Amino acid sequence: MCEEAGFVTPANTVDHVTAHRGNEALFFDPENLASLCATCHSRHKQREEHGRKVVRFGADGWPL
Ligand SMILES: [Zn+2]
Repeated sequence: MCEEAGFVTPANTVDHVTAHRGNEALFFDPENLASLCATCHSRHKQREEHGRKVVRFGADGWPL
């Protein structure tokens, strides 16, 4: 997510691209994993998973 916005940030959190919601196949599928920084994971993904619209901003300050 940082890269999409033009930032380079070390990733330290593994995210499930499609929320697994207890589905073991999705939980263990390596194709469903993505590395994120802790800030993106907690701020952006959790809002998306709860169905709220997320506006992200690029390095130039404009919305993506
Ligand atoms: Zn990030």
